[in-house]
Amino acid sequence: MIHLYNTLTRHKEELKPIHEGKIGMYSCGPTVYWFAHIGNMRSFLFADVLRRTLELNGYEVKQVMNITDVGHLTGDTDEGEDKMIVAMKREGKSAYEIAEFYTGAFKKDLEALNIKPANIYPKATDHIAEQIEMIEALEKNGFTYQTGDGVYFDTSKLTDYGRLSGQKSQEKLAGARVDMGEKRNVTDFALWKFSAPGSDRDMEWESPWGKGFPGWHIECSAMSLKYLDVPFDIHTGGVDHIAVHHENEIAQTMGAEGVLEANIWMHNEFLTVDNGRMAKSLGNIYTVDELVAKGYDPLAYRYFVLGGHYRSKLNFTFEALHAAQNALRKLRETIRSWKTPGTIGCADLENEFLAALNDDLGTPQALAVVWKLIDVDLPTEVKAKTLLWMDRVLGLRFEETLGHALDVPQEIQQLVDAREEARKQKDWSHSDELRARISELGYSVEDTDQGPQIKQL
Ligand code: AMP
Ligand code: ZN
Repeated sequence: MIHLYNTLTRHKEELKPIHEGKIGMYSCGPTVYWFAHIGNMRSFLFADVLRRTLELNGYEVKQVMNITDVGHLTGDTDEGEDKMIVAMKREGKSAYEIAEFYTGAFKKDLEALNIKPANIYPKATDHIAEQIEMIEALEKNGFTYQTGDGVYFDTSKLTDYGRLSGQKSQEKLAGARVDMGEKRNVTDFALWKFSAPGSDRDMEWESPWGKGFPGWHIECSAMSLKYLDVPFDIHTGGVDHIAVHHENEIAQTMGAEGVLEANIWMHNEFLTVDNGRMAKSLGNIYTVDELVAKGYDPLAYRYFVLGGHYRSKLNFTFEALHAAQNALRKLRETIRSWKTPGTIGCADLENEFLAALNDDLGTPQALAVVWKLIDVDLPTEVKAKTLLWMDRVLGLRFEETLGHALDVPQEIQQLVDAREEARKQKDWSHSDELRARISELGYSVEDTDQGPQIKQL
């Protein structure tokens, strides 16, 4: 039995798939106007762990992740400029070139963090017709009105608008600093925006209402309908999507199709820096490439993220990342000497591991079970079998080190040999210098009865 926390009902619920043995899952993807930062990647790591957990339980998962390449405004609501246009001006390239470049960078990050690719990555700009069709359905069902700058969804027409965030329209109004313009209700949002006269957009399309571009939210409703059908099982995203983006997705699908878009809505909490959100607009971001440039293994970041529960804030520091990297290295070092996996694993620890994950993705508890496995007194072929099974969710690529002696780079081997020579000559200070150099390069050397033993730090 799998229990997952559903933001919609505010309860942990037992997962009851719509189609036996199968799960349809939609994950809100990146806006490809800049490099994804490691906070964004937390969201995709969370979706990956969820998907892998479902697969470990035997489900066949179809995961769809959208690529937002138009319509996401800097204000997240209907204010500000399209983020793609901001990037166009910054880089002097076309919006399509920007989208292609950052989509490529995003996929490289996924690979580095060993996040399984989604089955489909639909782009918003490839689905303009589907979005127009959905807006037409909304229009037909009486949920839209037109203003001078676009077509809007009238949230007052939907009785249970606001059920995901639990916020009433009036409450939003109280905290809002939005310019209402011609909007009828503060929560109303754009489905289609008209290109401003003389605007330099290179992403605009004809529509029944006039030339323009889709609002940000409609892409997810239209593309989830196309690729998963509605309702589907699980929708994921970061907590910042609850109040606006997902609320509006629910409204659109309900208005056009008359059903709830997805049964379970799951949201990851933020990665924080100094306990404030990591966000590009706050200038406190790091990318995966930046971590690598500082000498970190991207999988150390994966390990770090697994160490927190997805519904808790996780504060990023380099000390914490360092500790994660050390823990991962210790695991790798330990399993180098293990025998190749046998046919039988340790059922008790496998059950404990699965129970932790099936209880709303308890990854910190699951990692604790990994350390229990390291310490337990069992033949290493049994432990190896279990560790690789666990790694189907952990995704730490243990198969690359398990049973493989360390491949010592030539440069390190030469330094170690030189140190042996210095030791023979009793030149202790030179020997110490060489040890320090070896450690700077990320290795340690221990003197044993069998000679120097080299480890990766
Ligand atoms: P975006 O590219 O802005 O559409 O964001 C991609 C995903 O990252 C969304 O699911 C966001 O909710 C999520 N996200 C943004 N900032 C953070 C953060 N600091 N920590 C965790 N998730 C985040
Ligand atoms: Zn979305």
